[in-house]
Amino acid sequence: MGKFDWFWNAMGAKSAKHEKQSRKIVGQAQQQAADFDSLSDDKLREHARSSVNPSGEITDKSTFLAALATASSRKLGLRPYDVQSQAVLRLLTGDVIHMATGEGKTLVGAMAATGFALSGKRVHVVTVNDYLARRDAEWMRPLVESFGLEVAAVTESMDTAQRRQAYAADVVYAPVKELGFDVLRDNQITSREQAVFQQADVALVDEADSVLVDEALVPLVLAGTRADQATDPRVTTVVANLKQERDYTIGTDGRTVFLTDDGAATVEKELGIDSLYSDEHIGSTLVRVNLALHAKALLIRDIHYLVHDGELKLIDTAKGRVADLQRWPDGLQAAVEEKEGLKVTEGGRILDTLTIQELMRRYPQLCGMTGTAVEATDQLREFYGLYVSEIAPNKAPQRFDEADRVYATVAEKTQALLDEIELLHAQKQPVLIGTQDVAESESLDAALTERGINAQVLNAKNDAEEAAIIAEAGMPGRVTVSTQMAGRGTDIKLGGTDGTHYQEVKDAGGLAVLGTTRHRSSRLDNQLRGRAGRQGDPGLSLFFVSLEDDVVISGGAGESVEAQPDGNGRIDSGRIVDFIAHCQRVTEAQLLEIHSQTWKYNKLLADQREIIDERRSSLLDTDKAWTELRKYEPERAAELVAAGLADDVLVQASREIMLYHLDLAWADHLEHMDDVRESIHLRAIARETPIDEYHRIAVREFKEIVRRGVEAARESFREVVIDNAGAHLSEGGLARPSATWTYMVSDNPLAGSGNSALSGIGNLFR
Ligand code: ADP
Ligand code: MG
Repeated sequence: MGKFDWFWNAMGAKSAKHEKQSRKIVGQAQQQAADFDSLSDDKLREHARSSVNPSGEITDKSTFLAALATASSRKLGLRPYDVQSQAVLRLLTGDVIHMATGEGKTLVGAMAATGFALSGKRVHVVTVNDYLARRDAEWMRPLVESFGLEVAAVTESMDTAQRRQAYAADVVYAPVKELGFDVLRDNQITSREQAVFQQADVALVDEADSVLVDEALVPLVLAGTRADQATDPRVTTVVANLKQERDYTIGTDGRTVFLTDDGAATVEKELGIDSLYSDEHIGSTLVRVNLALHAKALLIRDIHYLVHDGELKLIDTAKGRVADLQRWPDGLQAAVEEKEGLKVTEGGRILDTLTIQELMRRYPQLCGMTGTAVEATDQLREFYGLYVSEIAPNKAPQRFDEADRVYATVAEKTQALLDEIELLHAQKQPVLIGTQDVAESESLDAALTERGINAQVLNAKNDAEEAAIIAEAGMPGRVTVSTQMAGRGTDIKLGGTDGTHYQEVKDAGGLAVLGTTRHRSSRLDNQLRGRAGRQGDPGLSLFFVSLEDDVVISGGAGESVEAQPDGNGRIDSGRIVDFIAHCQRVTEAQLLEIHSQTWKYNKLLADQREIIDERRSSLLDTDKAWTELRKYEPERAAELVAAGLADDVLVQASREIMLYHLDLAWADHLEHMDDVRESIHLRAIARETPIDEYHRIAVREFKEIVRRGVEAARESFREVVIDNAGAHLSEGGLARPSATWTYMVSDNPLAGSGNSALSGIGNLFR
């Protein structure tokens, strides 16, 4: 680092300087690659290996790139473009590269992963779904293997043995949630051989903004069978009789619900308690009442959930399908089940949770790639300390980004959108329409059918099927309707996958991408735009917006604008376009603020988890548990030794006892802090800020659980039968869960595309 690099970084000149350097290296590599063409695979491997020094740095970058480029052409039939080689160098220094859709990031990622692996580091290439992990591992396998390295994919359907084997590879492609679930499951093992996950030195994240920003706060949950969770059906009954307006009010956003004073008094009377807001009840009864109230007033059968075969099935509103492996946060799930008179499934007990942000921050080195990194610069810096490097496109972009078309109402906007689709369709130009959710996709499809247009609708049925449909979205006259998330990572070639109609579609203007609204951040808009105009192809992007859209309503709250719509409701005014951009900047700032605030809560638990993890590791890997218990309980230890028990039996028995209580204490802590967080806004009134209050409680409680865990372990050590078969924990009522399962906490079904979920008492979702 030069002395003034901080200054140049701040001035955004870092990438300019690096670009000049890397262009030189890439130029040299190109010349070298010409000589490498005649070399054997073995020789290429030797050259690549010799470009790395013993401490794992790539010292001869041009030789390294030349060897990889040669192997790529030979094994994959892809000769890397210069910009791809430049991108590889940026990844190797740990940046997030901004590289447009269709520029070939899969190859870039594999080359960089190979570079890391050659320097002795294990790499996890993190994908957004199973389909992409499998596809990319298979696609890139010949390249990685030609350097004598192992490559594998981890996918949902794999069993423990298969996963363990996959994690042993040098380069592992895996969806982010599987990584998280494996980490969580490994935190329950009682001897080292049971471990599955192997921490990598580097995580290389594809679609980095989706994973590191959009999904960052999604909790991954490990639950298990444990029968000690109390529910209170009385609460449901009391709440069922409450009346809207008199006892509770629903916030204007329709996403929060508040007890009135009268309502609170009724509940207190019915439950026979003094005050819901007293210290005694605020973390328990009040939370349950709020959950039941949420379930009653805000969650609507057949919109937010279905009841099927006596079971509750969540509807993923964004995808419009039953979300199989998802549950609401536990109390809420139980509250809705009670409301519907179903058997309360309890979700067992939450044993552990981990957010994606926490998971990604555990990697010693992090880097990534996406078409929309620049727009996420602030978040990547703030939450991960990452820098963004912009990579120039291989060919000059030809896409035309038309100015937004603004309408007064949603109805007028939709008419105009349909007219535009009809027009483009008549000209045989393929059209891809990006919608907010599946409901919108479906109503659009119905309206198109009425106009005699047959559209392909991506319904998030499964990722592989979607990939196949979206891959053909560039066919002449094709109309494809898709939500933002659907078909990610799939290339749309003009004229179809085999390119037979390329010229025809090119002449028609290429792929047209239409947005049905501006998103809450311009980054999401750009993710959609990026679908058109790949590799210098012609293309069009155009957004339709109305003054009734979410982004305008939440971003422009409290502001008024004057506009004169024409006969079709169109508002053709630069001022209005500016206003909408302003609304979007407001929602962007709100999103960033929510992320920062939520992370502040999560960060503390993440730090505490580190302490627990360290303790766990030392209990697993050393005979610390036995040493400690022997010291605390010398009489019992002497008794066991005198009984002639072997050392390894004593060590393992002690380990199991200690781990049992450590894990239980941690689960209790998480549950308790969850309750605290739900009621923190009430607790903190007129005292400290909620976050300070939360910290104070978390630190105090954490010390307490550690102490209690050790105490309970001593007690078990004294009382549980220990013989040659080990510690008989289950006979002492201390069985570990007999079954565990994992899930992602569903998005707040009430948050829609707004962001008010984090305000008010109604904040039950994180
Ligand atoms: P991205 O992830 O950046 O959107 P992909 O990795 O999916 O892009 O690649 C897009 C397409 O470009 C693929 O069909 C791939 O085969 C092709 N491609 C990538 N690199 C090259 C190259 N160097 N030469 C020719 N085609 C390439
Ligand atoms: Mg990709």
